[in-house]
Amino acid sequence: MSDWFQTGKEAVDQANKKVDFTPQTRRFYMKPGADATIIFLDGDNSEDEPIGNYKEHQYESTSGHWPNFQSCTGTAGGCVFCKAGVRAYDAWPFSIIQVKPTWTDRDGNEHKNQRKLMIAKKESMQRLLRQIEKRDGLAGSVWNIYRSNQRAYTIGDDWEFVERIGEDDMTPKERRRAIAKKLELDTDQCDKIDYREELKPKTEKELDASGADVEGTKRRQESYRANKGGDNKGGSGGGSGGSGGSGGSGGSVEVPY
Ligand SMILES: [Zn+2]
Repeated sequence: MSDWFQTGKEAVDQANKKVDFTPQTRRFYMKPGADATIIFLDGDNSEDEPIGNYKEHQYESTSGHWPNFQSCTGTAGGCVFCKAGVRAYDAWPFSIIQVKPTWTDRDGNEHKNQRKLMIAKKESMQRLLRQIEKRDGLAGSVWNIYRSNQRAYTIGDDWEFVERIGEDDMTPKERRRAIAKKLELDTDQCDKIDYREELKPKTEKELDASGADVEGTKRRQESYRANKGGDNKGGSGGGSGGSGGSGGSGGSVEVPY
């Protein structure tokens, strides 16, 4: 852990440093029981635009902010979570437009057709790969999605294909133009997200500044795994093991994403 008190150049630099750990693009997230409509801006897995994959940690923060994410560089790459024994999960990023729901911020501005980052985890990705194969790519495809319960994927577990925007044989770029036209957006609002930039691993210092709680993250992961072990996926068993005596954070166990 770095020294809490800085002097000289570091102290001066801090005054000009933008302390903002909010990524440029919001992540797509669904509450249990929620519906959404989304359009893929990429996901064709073509030669020009191959699908990407990386490992990620979701971490606890003393700032109270949740969830927080750190792209994993592995133990050899200096990842503090890996070093502490926290396991990373595989993640596949996609760029989407969230058509529904729209949302209104504190200033009363309505946000609609907003570009978002969608992170698929392994089981969701297995399903998406089937769709990529079946439909010869995802770019331009419109989906109605539903998240059935708290343990379901945060990107939804019930996916219904609606239509595909654009003509057959369009490149992903041409599809994005067609989407922008249809939604009356500027073309840059429908650009594919630069994942290397968007998901760039935070430095150790940035992690500290974001309030990263490595030990707390480890405890949460262990508690989640313990609860999951007593749970019957899709069944009704494991009730007493899961809900009894779990106290504080036990009640908030959810599928990590
Ligand atoms: Zn790691």
